[in-house]
Amino acid sequence: MKTLRDLGELDGKRVLVRVDFNVPLDGGEVADDTRIRAALPTIEELRRRGARLVLVSHLGRPKDREPELSMRPAADRLAKLTEAQVTLAPGVVGPDVQAFAKNLARGDVLMLENVRYEPGETKNDPELARTLADLADVYVNDAFGAAHRAHASTEGVARLVAEHAAGLLLEREVTTLNGVLENPARPLVAVLGGAKVSDKIAVIERFREVADTILIGGAMCFPFLAAQGHAVGTSLCAAEDVELARKLLAAGSSGAELQLPVDLVIAERFAADAAPQPLDAVDVPEGMMGLDIGPRTAQAYASEIGGAGTVFWNGPMGAFELEPFAAGTRAVAQAVADAPGVTVVGGGDSAAALVRFGLEDRVTHLSTGGGAALELIEGRVLPGVEALA
Ligand code: ADP
Ligand code: MG
Repeated sequence: MKTLRDLGELDGKRVLVRVDFNVPLDGGEVADDTRIRAALPTIEELRRRGARLVLVSHLGRPKDREPELSMRPAADRLAKLTEAQVTLAPGVVGPDVQAFAKNLARGDVLMLENVRYEPGETKNDPELARTLADLADVYVNDAFGAAHRAHASTEGVARLVAEHAAGLLLEREVTTLNGVLENPARPLVAVLGGAKVSDKIAVIERFREVADTILIGGAMCFPFLAAQGHAVGTSLCAAEDVELARKLLAAGSSGAELQLPVDLVIAERFAADAAPQPLDAVDVPEGMMGLDIGPRTAQAYASEIGGAGTVFWNGPMGAFELEPFAAGTRAVAQAVADAPGVTVVGGGDSAAALVRFGLEDRVTHLSTGGGAALELIEGRVLPGVEALA
């Protein structure tokens, strides 16, 4: 993978930068600018080197040119975060956009409109890729969160612009995640939670091979507990996931040790006003659901995390959005924050949990790409990364 260090002279050159400004909006304003701030190091370095920048990103899933999904709020926020002159282009492609791009001064930024306004984007249409390529002399991809998609702005265009490289964020994401898999400080402890085993089965399998210990929490524990013959009540637990869990457990003692909860917090329903009940066991009574790991489990997991050379965490330990069921996730988040080892966190909700507990700056690396991070861990090739080779 080529990086910014491999690029030659950039002074006066036009650089097309694929960024991930797919940010949450609230009333036409950016509600969380984490992803915009994460792209600043690359933007500032390119500006320092005298480049003229054309930024391209998607935002949401527009069906046509929905004005609510314009890049306007993101461009405005970027303008506040940098000294650069930031202009929003009148579209993604076309003669007007070309004219704007031509007239950019050194250090100026042109933000293209939502690239998914163009139907060719998700189809990796060669014509759209060509039009994007014509806007620039150099292509830089800093959108790790979109690197698992072979789209025109992430893959097609990279193949058409001879001089291309990974941005600083994408480079750090790939290097850090590969470091966890290939050469981690031991022991490597993977903490896996969240909602569905089927979505993350390949991640568990990979950690079975490379990790020393896997700690299972969240709704993900119920298929495993069910496979062991425990009652799960009305807990989130799909029959197909129980089958997958059974296969994983049957794989036996080879690979990482798999730890499951020993106690739970249960309630009648998934709601903030549901009465939480401690359960010092893992057999969930009929009509009740498990919504968090219990305090003994949280303590055991925290101690594994504290003793780890490397921790990878994906997926909350319970329904952390609901205060009565947040304690397990909070304990694990705190343990990850306090851990002396290398700590890497991936996943949208896991990141949201860290932010909620004010711990987002206390980990070694907080991945900006949920799906992309998981696919990389599964061992899949990310098209956006491969195109930068
Ligand atoms: P990430 O985005 O970090 O990959 P997921 O999307 O897989 O995580 O899972 C997050 C969701 O899982 C949260 O909305 C949380 O409420 C839910 N969840 C976790 N534990 C439970 C549980 N025991 N019962 C129901 N939902 C749960
Ligand atoms: Mg999620």
